[in-house]
Amino acid sequence: MEQVCCVCGEALEDDNVSRCRLCGGGFHLAWSTEANIKECGSYFFHEQTCGLSFICRNCEPSLSADRQSPSQFTTS
Ligand SMILES: [Zn+2]
Ligand SMILES: [Zn+2]
Repeated sequence: MEQVCCVCGEALEDDNVSRCRLCGGGFHLAWSTEANIKECGSYFFHEQTCGLSFICRNCEPSLSADRQSPSQFTTS
């Protein structure tokens, strides 16, 4: 079954794909800075699990609203 990015709607490869913690959708995210692909989301450090979590571009605004320090998310 072909998966598509929940942000841009384009097909997902096996690599450079992450799953959004909030909506559960797959999206494009470069695993290394050398991967020359677009990024449809970002990662952040999750305090409760002490690990990295991933979030798609669609859900970034709701995550920022939940957090006390939205300055950690720069959209520029
Ligand atoms: Zn995408
Ligand atoms: Zn999402």
